[in-house]
Amino acid sequence: MSANPDPAGPLPGGGRADLRADCASCFALCCVVPAFAASADFAIDKRAWQACPNLRQDFRCGVHRDLRQKGFPGCTVYDCFGAGQKVSQVTFHGRDWRRAPETAKRMFDVFPVMRHLHELLYYLAEALTLEAARPIHGELRDLLAETERLTGEPPESLVELDVAAHRQNVNALLLRAGELARAGIRGRQDHRGADLIGADLRGADLRGAGLRGAYLIGADLRGADLRMADLIGADTRNADLRGADLTGALYLTQSQLDAANGDAATRLPPSLTRPPHWPDTTSEPGARAKPGTAAKPGAQGKRSRAAKPGRRAKR
Ligand code: SF4
Repeated sequence: MSANPDPAGPLPGGGRADLRADCASCFALCCVVPAFAASADFAIDKRAWQACPNLRQDFRCGVHRDLRQKGFPGCTVYDCFGAGQKVSQVTFHGRDWRRAPETAKRMFDVFPVMRHLHELLYYLAEALTLEAARPIHGELRDLLAETERLTGEPPESLVELDVAAHRQNVNALLLRAGELARAGIRGRQDHRGADLIGADLRGADLRGAGLRGAYLIGADLRGADLRMADLIGADTRNADLRGADLTGALYLTQSQLDAANGDAATRLPPSLTRPPHWPDTTSEPGARAKPGTAAKPGAQGKRSRAAKPGRRAKR
C-alpha cells in the first residue's frame, strides 16, 4: 500500500497522493493490459492482456534500470493516476491475477475504465485549486464526488459504465474552469489540437494559450512563456522546455513533463516535480536538446517500473 499515511491527502503544491501511481501496490496492470506495436517507444509487439516478457513474477520490471537503453522509453512516462493501485487493492481487494487467474479478465477490463476515472479526478482536483474558477467550484465538487463514487463501484458496474459520457461532462466543466482562469490574459492564442510538431516556438508568448490536445512533439519551446496555458492532453514528447516558464500552467501532468526535456531554468507548477532526467544545470543558449537523449536510463527508479507509453494508440 501507499507509504503516504493519508493516501487521499494533499501533496506539497496541491496534488493528491492517491492520484499518483503507487507501483508497489499494483499488480503491474499497465505491463499487461495494453497492446503495443513495436515502435520507438516500445521495442516489441505485445498483445493486449499479455504480460510483457520483461515483467517478473513479483510484478516488477526486469529492465527498469535500462528502459531507455533497451528501447522502452515510453515506459518511463506513463502515468495511471493511481488507477493501478485502486483496482488492485480496492476493487479486487488485493487478489492478484496470477494467484487468482479467474479474476484476470474482469480486472483487465476494469483497469482502463479506472484509469479514465482517475485521470478525470486529477483534472477536477486541479480545477478546484483555481481561484478564478470559484463560481463553478460547486459544480466541480459535485462532479468530483460523483467520479469518486464511481471509482468505488464493483467490477461488474465499472465495466458497464459509459465512461465517454461521463468524460464529456467533466471535460465541459474543465473547459469552463480553464476559461475562467485565463480570462484576464489579453491576446491569448488558441492552438487547440494544433499540429505544432517540431515548431520553432523559442521565446514565444504563450501565456494563457489554449494548447488543449496540441501536438507539441519535438517543439522548440526554449524560453517560452507558458504561464496559465491550458495544456490538457497536449503531446509534449521530446518538446524542448529548457528555460520555459510553466508557472500556473493548467492541467499539466507529471507524465507530460517526463516526456519532455527541460533544465534547471524551466519553471514548474509547485504540484509537479522536475523529472530526474533533466539536467540540474542551465543549458547553453542555442543548444538544442537531442530528442530522446536527455533521460538517464533508470533514473526514475520505481516509478519507471510500471510506466508505459502514454499516448500510444492501443492503450
Ligand atoms: S515497465 Fe515496460 S518493459 Fe518493464 S515490464 Fe512493464 S511494460 Fe515491460
